[in-house]
Amino acid sequence: MRAGDALRQAATCIDRLDAEVLLAHLLGIGRMALLLAQDRDIDAAAFNALVDRRAAGEPVAYITGKREFWSLDLTVTPDVLIPRPDSETLIEAALAAFAGSAPASILDLGTGSGALLLAALDCWPAAFGVGVDRSAAAARVARGNALRHGIPAAFIVGDWATALDARFDLVLANPPYVEAHADLARDVRDHEPASALFAGDDGLDAYRVLVPALPALIADGGVALLEIGATQADAVADLAAQAGLTARLHRDLANHSRCLALRRA
Ligand code: GLN
Repeated sequence: MRAGDALRQAATCIDRLDAEVLLAHLLGIGRMALLLAQDRDIDAAAFNALVDRRAAGEPVAYITGKREFWSLDLTVTPDVLIPRPDSETLIEAALAAFAGSAPASILDLGTGSGALLLAALDCWPAAFGVGVDRSAAAARVARGNALRHGIPAAFIVGDWATALDARFDLVLANPPYVEAHADLARDVRDHEPASALFAGDDGLDAYRVLVPALPALIADGGVALLEIGATQADAVADLAAQAGLTARLHRDLANHSRCLALRRA
């Protein structure tokens, strides 16, 4: 079957862009190259198997096993949350916080695929970077991503920062923050790791543990950047104030509250 016909057929049951990404993945070429290869003969059965998985709700990134974050191609598996463009807000906030200087040490709590840590180390290659995840499987994915990009970093399996006795210039975290009963898209709820998404009835459980630990983790002059849900800025800023931290809000490209920059007062 010709690529162009296969794409047209697939687009009747899944998103056209998803179909293009899946076919490009199958052929081992980029999406642009695919658009120039509409007459190429493809293995229709193999392509349809990928289309069927997508039609059943499996995220494209788990089918292809990769997702780009901050221009880094990352391997993702169902053991890790798929990196979201929203989370790049934390890297933008880090660049703003260290304009004209550089963090010497970077900690990423709940590193998952390693996306935040590796993006930050891409910005500051000389920094010492540590990623922590409770899931050994996630830490392995993160380590593989670091190795593939030639980015030196240490990965630890642990419960937030309980294994650490050190301070960092930059602390990053995209903890779970979704309310347990939130009406999440089925693709997300059925396929992405619940432990990376859900944080109790009000979505704040992870912050209740994480925020009080931050004063002992942030170096003098350092900053912690926490990803937050769009409606959580006030509640998390309250937790920060109780921990003696000041909070500054950063918004994502959709103008949603997305990141709090926390500093020791
Ligand atoms: N932003 C993610 C979502 O909308 C949630 C990520 C998280 O809980 N850290 O699904």
